[in-house]
Amino acid sequence: TVVTRFAPSPTGFLHIGGARTALYNWLLARHFGGKFLLRIEDTDKKRSTNEAIDAILEGMKWLELDWDGDAISQAGRAERHAEIARELLEKGKAYKCFATSEELTAARDAARASGGNFRGDLWRDRDEGEAPEGAPYSIRIRMPREGETTISDAVQGKVTVQNSNLDDMIILRSDGTPTYMLAVVVDDHDMGVTHIVRGDDHLNNAFRQHQIYEAMGWTPPVLAHIPLIHGPDGKKLSKRHGALGVEAYRDMGYLPAAMRNYLLRLGWSHGDDEIISTEQAIEWFSLENVGKGAARFDFDKLDNLNGHYIRNLNPDALLSLIRNDLEKEVGHTLETAEEERLIKGLPALAERAKRMPDVTENASLFCNVRPLSLTENAAKALQGDMPALMGKVANELEAVTDWEASVIKAAIFSFAEAEELKLGKVMQPVRAAVTGGRQCGDLVETLEILGQEETIGRLRDLIA
Ligand code: GLU
Repeated sequence: TVVTRFAPSPTGFLHIGGARTALYNWLLARHFGGKFLLRIEDTDKKRSTNEAIDAILEGMKWLELDWDGDAISQAGRAERHAEIARELLEKGKAYKCFATSEELTAARDAARASGGNFRGDLWRDRDEGEAPEGAPYSIRIRMPREGETTISDAVQGKVTVQNSNLDDMIILRSDGTPTYMLAVVVDDHDMGVTHIVRGDDHLNNAFRQHQIYEAMGWTPPVLAHIPLIHGPDGKKLSKRHGALGVEAYRDMGYLPAAMRNYLLRLGWSHGDDEIISTEQAIEWFSLENVGKGAARFDFDKLDNLNGHYIRNLNPDALLSLIRNDLEKEVGHTLETAEEERLIKGLPALAERAKRMPDVTENASLFCNVRPLSLTENAAKALQGDMPALMGKVANELEAVTDWEASVIKAAIFSFAEAEELKLGKVMQPVRAAVTGGRQCGDLVETLEILGQEETIGRLRDLIA
């Protein structure tokens, strides 16, 4: 069975690149009916924080990427990592290094000066007995010196490195703590991981990790190193261009389903399909269709996709998002009458939707909040003798006995005619007064939904 994992380091939020990595691992596992595991790589005690762990778990939950079993703490497995380091020592695949940090620095400088590779191998061929009694030591892996290491990456293809370029890296520090390189391999092995999808910034590590698998006689997992996400300008992704935590996307009003769809397409394709539901994605996902080129982040595309997903939400789900937003943002609790209006008015609002806050802001025109706040443009449209005119319209509308779009329209029509005004000259300020400048569907239909009392009230508020 297929076992994948997402292995974030909790040093910050779950950023967009990490979210995509998580998604691909999740999709691969779900596609094969396998397992998707979550491992928190919290070995770097100085940089790991509990807030970051929470942010990652929250981000995963928000994206609805459920992991199997409990999240595993890498730091909690240090004993096991040390055990493997000692086993490698016994096998002769690793050795004790008694070099002091001064000696190592000198060796590093010398290697640099001669343009050679620093391999950290000062004690590779020395006898332990040469070390002073009780001297501290680290454990280093004995890398092969001859030949080459080739990785068949599911995305990058065959990638080869000369073994002479691999250093005898430390696997267990002199304080007994494992290094990251060792921990990753031991954990992936113990967790039964069969496929690793991760950013191609880890490709160099892959060769070194491969040698630990070799030394232990373990089968390495299938590797898929995916290109990093770049900004729209092709440069490294900056904050302005979307290098944010997923919670920032949630707060900007993107829906998890839209986000998944967007992240999926950001580096993976299925023909020309742009809109791909999660169910379809699970069915179609494969590593073969991961792109080799760096993906470019594009907010416009994300907005368009999000609009699509907002339009396709079922009305109850959309209503409940708006209800939550209104409560959170402006402390307004929807009454039944307002909800009834929203149910009728929402389809037209969703038509233009991009991000949820815009939808909620537009939807707020269906609430009983008076006086209604006006946008700058709406206020401008209501200057001069407009309030007086709106007062007259209010009187006209008060006489309507059957509050229905066609009747309302006829009333405004005949009013404009009587006043010898073009229809637009009346409709435009009415729109500004009743919506406060918010977007809505057909104005007269909006008035019908809003109801006679609220409509007239908003028009009269201008003269009050
Ligand atoms: N913890 C590493 C990171 O956050 C991922 C390591 C891996 O996937 O092997 O970049």
